[in-house]
Amino acid sequence: MIRIRHSLITKRHEELIELVDQLGKQYVEPIADKMDRENLYPRDIMRKLGENGLLTPTLPREYGGLGADMLSMSLIVEILSRYSAAVGILAEVQGFLVAHAFYTYGNKWMREELAPKLARAELIGSFALTEPCCGSDAAAIETRAERRGGEWVINGRKIYITQGLYADVYLVFTRTGPKEARHKAITAFLVRRSNCVEATPIDVMGIRGTGTSEIRFNDCVVSDDDMVGKLNEGFKIAMEALNIGRLAVASSTLGLSEAALMEAYKWVRERRAFDQPLMDFEWIQFQLADMATYIETMRNITYETAYALDKNLPDAYAYASMAKLVNALLGFNIVRTAVQLTGAYGVSMSSKLNRIYRDFKLMEIGEGTNEVQRRIIYRWLSKALE
Ligand SMILES: Cc1cc2nc3c(=O)[nH]c(=O)nc-3n(C[C@H](O)[C@H](O)[C@H](O)COP(=O)(O)OP(=O)(O)OC[C@H]3O[C@@H](n4cnc5c(N)ncnc54)[C@H](O)[C@@H]3O)c2cc1C
Repeated sequence: MIRIRHSLITKRHEELIELVDQLGKQYVEPIADKMDRENLYPRDIMRKLGENGLLTPTLPREYGGLGADMLSMSLIVEILSRYSAAVGILAEVQGFLVAHAFYTYGNKWMREELAPKLARAELIGSFALTEPCCGSDAAAIETRAERRGGEWVINGRKIYITQGLYADVYLVFTRTGPKEARHKAITAFLVRRSNCVEATPIDVMGIRGTGTSEIRFNDCVVSDDDMVGKLNEGFKIAMEALNIGRLAVASSTLGLSEAALMEAYKWVRERRAFDQPLMDFEWIQFQLADMATYIETMRNITYETAYALDKNLPDAYAYASMAKLVNALLGFNIVRTAVQLTGAYGVSMSSKLNRIYRDFKLMEIGEGTNEVQRRIIYRWLSKALE
């Protein structure tokens, strides 16, 4: 497998890479195809990752983390995604979109009790923002939280929610004011799974086994104590979580691209045509050289984005969008070329490249589409050039 070399990688990162790689080989690789074929949710793997602090590496050790940096999170998702992008994305959603958000914005109980349970995967959590009405335009969501007596009553539908089928708790973004107020009237709540929550599976072409589902909240009653952050300030929580989420998706596309290059490399070394190994054709060597160059370019922007988020640099959010966008563009090129180099084998259901290809497509959509990233980058650019 491709060795990771980069100026930001320390001895501690190298040890982490080794640990994740070993867990990936031992636990993820043997069931990655089965997860894909049977849409199987890897509950045991989530526990194993949680036990090792790998779901929330940036949290302190006493909260179930490793007291590590954002680059550690990026490396964990990258390495896991070499074996299974589904597992990489599950780690990101559970750890960063959910546990990290409760830890950062939640009250004392959420921070001290809930976040560690999520970090160890004793509880499973979902990030519920997207709705049938609106995905890219998240400020237009319609799920309502209404004040009745001293409580809040939540009604609405969320869609394409990762591990929604298996979640014990949901971080739900709701409208708490007029729709015209858009992002200024959105509040986040913790909703526990109960009879008021209805989860229906959605079958997707890639990152299968992640429990993607539609969730209906029917008169779910929650209290002020279940509010995450402040009233009408939920949109900021969603956007800040998604900045980290975009780094995670960029890391996952990097891992998928590395896996694709390896699969293609193994194939062209063995496969013969016109009386010689495919590897001996210069055109094939050039394709591999391009793939390696794209991968190192992807690595640079991904790790630099992790550094920027870690240091809370003002442009970090724009880097996160750029990393997600450029990795999607370069990485899809790599994956498409890898399938081409392996001919019909690459498209057969028994090849790993087939799964990588399908998984990759979803990376251009989840956590904000390529177009949404371009909107964010353009806004950043227009400010930067003023
Ligand atoms: C497998 C999977 C898992 C997911 N997990 C979660 C989850 O855990 N939690 C969650 O909340 N959501 C989740 N999502 C939802 C995901 O975030 C949305 O699908 C995504 O944000 C896009 O929204 P949409 O599908 O409604 O597309 P739409 O917003 O309807 O967009 C359709 C197309 O129009 C384009 N478009 C939209 N607006 C513009 C514009 N202004 N300019 C140019 N083009 C535009 C889009 O780029 C896209 O190509 C998941 C999605 C998938 C596929």
